[in-house]
Amino acid sequence: MNDPQSLIRELSCADDYDPNSMPVAKARELIGRFLTPVTATERVHARSALGRVLAEDITSPLNVPAHDNSAMDGFSVRFADLKGDGEVALRIAGTALAGAPFQGTVKAGECVRIMTGGVMPAGTDTIIMQEHVKVSGDRVTIGPGHKKGQNLRRAGEDLATGQVALKRGLALRPAEIGLIASLGIAEIRVYRRLRVAFFSTGDELVSIGTVPKEGQIYDSNRYTIHGMLTRLGCEVIDMGVVRDDPNLLETAFGEAAAIADVVITSGGVSVGEADYVKNLLNKLGEVVFWKIAMKPGRPLAYGKIGNAHFFGLPGNPVSVMVTFYQFVRDALLRLSGLDPVPPLPTFKVPCVSSLKKAPGRTEFQRGILTQDAAGNWSVRVTGEQGSGILRSMAEANCFIILPDAQGSVAAGALVEVQVMEGVV
Ligand code: AMP
Ligand code: MG
Repeated sequence: MNDPQSLIRELSCADDYDPNSMPVAKARELIGRFLTPVTATERVHARSALGRVLAEDITSPLNVPAHDNSAMDGFSVRFADLKGDGEVALRIAGTALAGAPFQGTVKAGECVRIMTGGVMPAGTDTIIMQEHVKVSGDRVTIGPGHKKGQNLRRAGEDLATGQVALKRGLALRPAEIGLIASLGIAEIRVYRRLRVAFFSTGDELVSIGTVPKEGQIYDSNRYTIHGMLTRLGCEVIDMGVVRDDPNLLETAFGEAAAIADVVITSGGVSVGEADYVKNLLNKLGEVVFWKIAMKPGRPLAYGKIGNAHFFGLPGNPVSVMVTFYQFVRDALLRLSGLDPVPPLPTFKVPCVSSLKKAPGRTEFQRGILTQDAAGNWSVRVTGEQGSGILRSMAEANCFIILPDAQGSVAAGALVEVQVMEGVV
């Protein structure tokens, strides 16, 4: 386990270390240095394992398929009986259906009618498709041009006994769960879920169900954070709203860090309120950085309180989601045992909107990717990009990522997009 204090001391000596303006890539790299994945595991039934992270290699206890079998409906023959230059007539000795094999051995001059998935009868080595033969009574006539071993699926060709079918560190999707079932495995070992505690800070916040007084607003961040954590398969601990009061905040941080692997807060890290949280965190833990050179989401704190990781997200609802997806998501997946964490795919498309942008920070604008009638994709922005406009996230299906050095973008230029579907 990394010792955060000595790491932070080491970082503070570096010339380019500025905890109040951390480039996006550097911030990701720094967070990465502190992440030690969970090690505790539990056994779960395959059906309950969706989204969980595999804590063991799954080796195949059997050959898949278990036997040589036919890939076609047709006739199973001895290749040696066929002629290279003419027809041959074979006697149909029986049938082999999927699940009902032919018993006995096929002799010279004989064949077996076989269905897809039927076990290869003993003595035969080649399948002739039924479309390529003539059947009359108990005889089948087969012409030339076949290859020995054609139209077969070999025992173990998909997976051989003892072969690793799935590797530790993989997040289980329906395909992997089906594969586990196909091996006859009922229970598997997965990492325990990551425990994440979160609360909102702000005197102006009311929870839904309460009528806001003048100047009060509904707390939406706890709902987006709850949803995003749930999608990642975390065990979520919702600690509600905490007032901007140093004593209450200190108690909340202490409680959260004692029960969770990760503590996430929103609000209270921007100018004005920063001092509470800043002083508290300096007292309770170690802070690696406070601010990121990005938009939206500049005030983003990361540090440790005891063994717990701490992410102090901004208060603005869009900034919360952007910083979560760009920093917290990857960290939580790594802590959950996912190895490797697949990077979110990005690709380049023309942007039909012109975009205003100052160099020196990374921007994550919200975009709508669409396909035209000719099949070409392009992106446009979701109107106003203010960090308080949650509608811009709700309407978006992608982030438009504008890197540090990028200036304004002219309409029609290529931009990098990151699709939200399946992620957000
Ligand atoms: P702060 O960083 O605490 O100054 O918050 C920045 C802005 O985000 C302010 O306008 C807050 O009212 C707003 N905000 C903070 N927390 C929340 C929340 N949980 N839900 C909705 N808006 C919030
Ligand atoms: Mg606040």
